[in-house]
Formats: sequence, C-alpha cells, structure tokens
Amino acid sequence: GNFIPPIKSNGGNTGNVTTRVAGKSDDASDDSAKRCLEMLCGPDGELPEKLRNLEPRLIEHISNEIMDRDPNVRWDDIAGLDHAKKCVTEMVIWPLLRPDIFKGCRSPGRGLLLFGPPGTGKTMIGKAIAGEAKATFFYISASSLTSKWIGEGEKLVRALFGVASCRQPAVIFVDEIDSLLSQRKSEGEHESSRRLKTQFLIEMEGFDSGSEQILLIGATNRPQELDEAARRRLTKRLYIPLPSLEARAWIVRNLLEKDGLFKLSKDEINTICSLTEGYSGSDMKNLVKDASMGPLREALKQGIEITKLKKEDMRSVTLQDFEDALQEVRPSVSSNELGTYDEWNKQFGSLS
Ligand code: ADP
Repeated sequence: GNFIPPIKSNGGNTGNVTTRVAGKSDDASDDSAKRCLEMLCGPDGELPEKLRNLEPRLIEHISNEIMDRDPNVRWDDIAGLDHAKKCVTEMVIWPLLRPDIFKGCRSPGRGLLLFGPPGTGKTMIGKAIAGEAKATFFYISASSLTSKWIGEGEKLVRALFGVASCRQPAVIFVDEIDSLLSQRKSEGEHESSRRLKTQFLIEMEGFDSGSEQILLIGATNRPQELDEAARRRLTKRLYIPLPSLEARAWIVRNLLEKDGLFKLSKDEINTICSLTEGYSGSDMKNLVKDASMGPLREALKQGIEITKLKKEDMRSVTLQDFEDALQEVRPSVSSNELGTYDEWNKQFGSLS
C-alpha cells in the first residue's frame, strides 16, 4: 500500500506522532494544546516569554509525553549504588531543596552524567532525583530526537528547555545522550544533527549561567563517544556499575516479596547470587520473572487448565526455578565492555 510517513517534513499539524497514532481529530489535538498552554500561563494569564514563539503542538507534546509530574521512584527502590546516591544527594538534591544555601562558592554544577552498562538503574536514579527533590521530571531519549523528530529536533529541544524553565525545579533526563553529543563529526554528520547539537549546547549554556533551578542528567552506555564539549558541560560524571552480590540479592527478594512469592532461604538466595555474577539489575528482573513462571508451568504440565487454576494451588518459587531460568536469561553485558567503562571512569569519572 501507500506508505505514509509518520512525520511531514515541513509545517502542518501532522508532525505530532502521538496525535496520529491516537487517531485524535485535529480539533481534539487543538483543544489539548490549548489546555497545555493554559496550564503554563503565569498568574497574569500570560504565556511566559520563553514559550511565546514556540509551536503549541510541541509544547503539548512536551507536557503530555515527556513531562512526568510524579515519577514515583524513591532511593529505597534502588538496590546498592550507595556511592552514586551519596554524590547525587549532595550535588543535586540538597541544592534543589535549598537554593538559598547552595549559591556562590557552593553553587552546584548543572550537568550530571550517569554512565555504565545498560539496565543498571540510571533512569531509576534520574526519576528518584526528581522524586526526592520534588522536581518535575522530563524524560527524553536523544535517539528519538534524531529519528522520530527528523528536522524538528531543534524546535523540540527549545520547547523542552522552555517548558522546563516554567516548571522549576526541573530535572531533564536525556537518555542515550551520546547519540546527540557524540564526537563523530564532519563526514557523515548531517547538517540537521549538527544544528541540533549546537541548539542543545546553547540551551545548556543558558541555564548553566543563570539562576534557574534546572538540572540536566545525561545517561549513556557509550561514554567514550562523548566529545570534549559534552564532557565539559557534564561536570560530574558518575559510574553506575553492575549490581554487587548484595544488590542482586536485594532485587530478587524485593521483587518476590512484592508479589508475596518469597519463600527462599538465605543459603538459596546466596546460591542464586553467586550464579549471577555479571548480571545487570534489569537481567535480574528478567530472571525473577522467568523463575516465577516455574510454578505456573509445572501446574499446567500436570494437566490443570489455566482457567481453572487456583492461585493457592501453585507451589512457591524454588531455587530449581532459578536454576532453570538461568538457562534462559543470560547476562547482557560482556566483560570486554566492562573494561571500557573502567578505563573511561579512571580517565574522566568523578571518583569521589
Ligand atoms: P538504565 O537506565 O541504566 O538502562 P533502568 O534504570 O532503566 O536502567 O533499569 C531497568 C530496570 O532494571 C528497572 O526498571 C529495574 O526494574 C531494574 N533495575 C536496574 N538496576 C536496578 C537497581 N540498582 N535496583 C533495582 N532495580 C534495578
């Protein structure tokens, strides 16, 4: 059939992917944009200066898809990472809570980089910062700026920083920041992505020098791709490593306890943890999910129909379920990759 691109390259009201997917009429989307603008107006009913020249549909997209007023993650939901939690509390949370104390010599850096293997809790930390500091959380994946918002990324970045400045204190979390601020230059770099990068750095520069309470957190699995300009702006660079043995035990226990499925002994938990060296937090979550299917699979194997199965007839999750799940769920990070993170951390990371 005829291929309809999700984004029109110029103008029109069709650039909003969400609107199209949701199948809303233009009227509905106009109404929604109007509501978003109204919410951003000051007490005088006027739209703040920074937002005046921005397209309403971009502001609507930021307000509805990127902004999260209550990310609902707290420090206690994150296993391990005590060093990162301590640094972040001092560098970010206290200044956001007490801007009057953290000025002058104590004024905080406005850029934080979280780097390390995928699935280790970087996004969770970003959300927890916003939650603990009672800040508005904005989440954007940098690769979506270059893929989904082709040719419009620059405008979206302006809208993002514009809305954030009206929603202070704010935390802007940019996932895969390497795809935006990578050091691969000139050849092959499109004019549009170069402009996008420049716009992003300009926006960062803007709030870095002012008194705005906006923090930018970049997350990446490929810190070595960041260029010098990016490193300069992301002044604090924290390594978020794979979970320790204790943190892995915590994740298993916490996930099973939430569902009332935790019946393992201390020794059994220790065995699971010693078999999962090299697993990320997200690998551990997948492992628990797979293991917790064990009792269900066994009941069904015995011929009980799924519609007639009673929850209380299912046995609890055992060490054997975990041993079976270990055959299915393998670690997603290789030891080679870990070496690269260690190297980069030694050279550019904030070690204390
Ligand atoms: P990243 O941003 O580093 O790629 P995420 O923060 O998105 O990883 O983590 C993915 C999922 O893995 C989380 O939703 C959580 O369930 C689990 N997870 C990862 N690290 C941790 C951790 N340290 N403590 C608890 N859960 C974790």
